Amino acid sequence: MGSTLTFDDKLLAYVEKHTPKEPELYRKLRQQTTDLGSVKEMQISWIQGRFMQLLARLMGAKTYLEVGVFTGYSALALAEVLPADGKITALDNSREWTDIARRYWKRAGVEDKIDLRLGDALKTLDDLTGEGRGETYDLAFIDADKENMGRYFDSCLGLLRPGGLVIADNVLWSGEVANPKDKSQATRAIRAFNDTVMEDQRVFYSLVPVGDGLILAQKK
Ligand code: SAH
Ligand code: CA
Repeated sequence: MGSTLTFDDKLLAYVEKHTPKEPELYRKLRQQTTDLGSVKEMQISWIQGRFMQLLARLMGAKTYLEVGVFTGYSALALAEVLPADGKITALDNSREWTDIARRYWKRAGVEDKIDLRLGDALKTLDDLTGEGRGETYDLAFIDADKENMGRYFDSCLGLLRPGGLVIADNVLWSGEVANPKDKSQATRAIRAFNDTVMEDQRVFYSLVPVGDGLILAQKK
């Protein structure tokens, strides 16, 4: 078997040191999110944000669909690397958290790039399809409730152009996917999702152990 590193704190600190510094505004947003308590765990790391920025740049992405905004960190990171005429459609059902997101997008001067749609993500994804947005997005990020990951994946694939990329977050779920004792609903949903992607002929994919585990799936 090939090897993937186990990250102890020292090695993670080394990676952080060799990642460009997290910009000031991002750090402020991270701090404000920390003040919300344990939900802060939902926010992506700067290492992951930087990686996603690189992917968007590599693809020359102009349009980005985000399922799960929270306080806006991932959308902020992506908004900053899209071209000036780039557009983001950002889906969440929490006004409270996305109010924070909007404040930071404004401070970064990217709010005009972002169309925030409040409501249940499955419904909003259907609406977007109904609005003729099928096969138009370059990049999608799935990071909302884990129970619906498979359904989000199907909708996002429909909304992506051929050659577009879906990034699914938390596919390793702190390692719990490989813990047979964990039978919780979210863990089972993530395992089922990972299993179905393996059989999915619509995509060319790779499971990448960055952050909490990402599946990168390119629509054929
Ligand atoms: N990408 C974010 C983290 C997202 S956390 C970041 O970088 O910080 C997950 C988000 O999904 C939460 O904000 C939650 O409100 C949202 N969410 C959960 N279930 C949802 C649903 N059914 N419809 C829309 N949003 C949902
Ligand atoms: Ca996540």
